[in-house]
Amino acid sequence: MHPHGSNTDQPRHSPAAIAVSIVLAAAPPGVEASEVAVDVGHTLGAYGATSARGGREFDFNAVLARRLSSQLEARTLAVRPINFDGEIESLAARPQEAAGADFFIAIHHDSVPADLLHEWNWQGATQTYTDDYSGFAMFVSHENPNLTTSLRCASAIGARLRRMGFVAARHHANPRSGTPREVADASNAVYYYDRLVVLYRTTLPAVLFEAGVIKNRDEELALLDPQRQTLMADGIATGIAACLYAR
Ligand SMILES: [Zn+2]
Repeated sequence: MHPHGSNTDQPRHSPAAIAVSIVLAAAPPGVEASEVAVDVGHTLGAYGATSARGGREFDFNAVLARRLSSQLEARTLAVRPINFDGEIESLAARPQEAAGADFFIAIHHDSVPADLLHEWNWQGATQTYTDDYSGFAMFVSHENPNLTTSLRCASAIGARLRRMGFVAARHHANPRSGTPREVADASNAVYYYDRLVVLYRTTLPAVLFEAGVIKNRDEELALLDPQRQTLMADGIATGIAACLYAR
């Protein structure tokens, strides 16, 4: 599923990897393990954004969703995979398949509006990029039936990722970088996005996670780094476990 056939699978020891301590937040004794629905954003047929080097967002999403699933299972959380094969038939099918789980997270990678993009040549093809926008972000909906838990989990994920050295996006409330979103928790890059079907048609707390901006040439390479993907998945899973078991 790796879009670029990267040869970066060698273990490396980034400062973030050394600094991070793996926190395994398991269900306390007597507490039933929670189930997390992990949704791969977009499909094989409609793959979402195109990266600065021509990669498909769906492929980025599928890789991170699998890494997140492993990290959740390592914390004894059950995982319900949604659209891992990219063949789901409709947007509404995603929350339907998630019904009965305890938490829903949709995995995405971000782009920016076309008027903010520049052209460059990559391996003989004209591609578009921006180097001005970057960072992870999360979206929640006012219309979600469990907004309190949605917000608490989003903030927990963002706080954990920032403590690990990941940088939160700053541009989602800025009208110059697309439709401005209402801020829910600016320091952890949590915003409201009310009309997203996967966020409001659920019966469970739901967060849409944007791992970063794949139109940013440097951030695209970072997002393709397997070791960094695992660290990011670790941070997301820690945030989810902490917030679900804090109820
Ligand atoms: Zn997307």
